Amino acid sequence: MQESIDPQIVALRTLQRQDRKLTVYERKLRVIPKRLRELDTDLRKLESMLDAEREKLEETRLFQSRQESQLQDEEVMAKTSKARLGQIKTARELNATQRELESTRRMITTRTEEIAKLQKAVSETEQRITKMDAMLSQLRSQAESEKERLATEKDRLERLILKARKRREKLTKGLDIDTLRTYERIRKRFPDGMAFVPAHRERCTACKMMIPNIIYMQLMKGREILACESCSRLLYWSGHFADDVEKLEPKPKPAPGSEEAAADAS
Ligand SMILES: [Zn+2]
Repeated sequence: MQESIDPQIVALRTLQRQDRKLTVYERKLRVIPKRLRELDTDLRKLESMLDAEREKLEETRLFQSRQESQLQDEEVMAKTSKARLGQIKTARELNATQRELESTRRMITTRTEEIAKLQKAVSETEQRITKMDAMLSQLRSQAESEKERLATEKDRLERLILKARKRREKLTKGLDIDTLRTYERIRKRFPDGMAFVPAHRERCTACKMMIPNIIYMQLMKGREILACESCSRLLYWSGHFADDVEKLEPKPKPAPGSEEAAADAS
């Protein structure tokens, strides 16, 4: 059927297919730097969380050691008061010293409890840090291998793009300059780069709008390339290309166990 239609249709369709591949390669290549940045951001986030935990640990330890030296002072105070009790002459003095000793003992109890709490916090933070440290080194090695993979992928895509561009250059030579210009102009307007699309069952397959009958009839003749009135993409009739029809109307797979399936298997 292809021999009877305008060769421009065939040429433009081939170019569109080539460009579709190129668009996919280029899009894949564009996301690589973003992915690399994400990897670094994740690492930095965990690193700064870990730094914060370490700082917190340092502060708690410092506070704990201050509490411990205060406890030592209080213990000395208690000892001194106790020793003084033996040398006391008056009842008033005795009272005062006993009160002083009691209050020091209360302080010692409170501080000892406080120190135990701090010690608990310290060991909890230490455990957290150990876990995060392990996570960080795991993440680092994952990021490392992911970066290697991305570098290989980048090389591969760049080679494919180079090849695809050369191929497209050859393909554009087979096209009328006006057709090519229109195609390029439309292509830039759509992120998927689809500017030459099949019309199928009286609809534009890109925007899904109905195509007026008169235009559809012309498309079926295959003598010219016409634009979709809704999305302005260029159109051709799907019926001119068997693989388009197959793609647009995939045959349902025969149910397993049916005669057709058995025939397929043989
Ligand atoms: Zn359309």
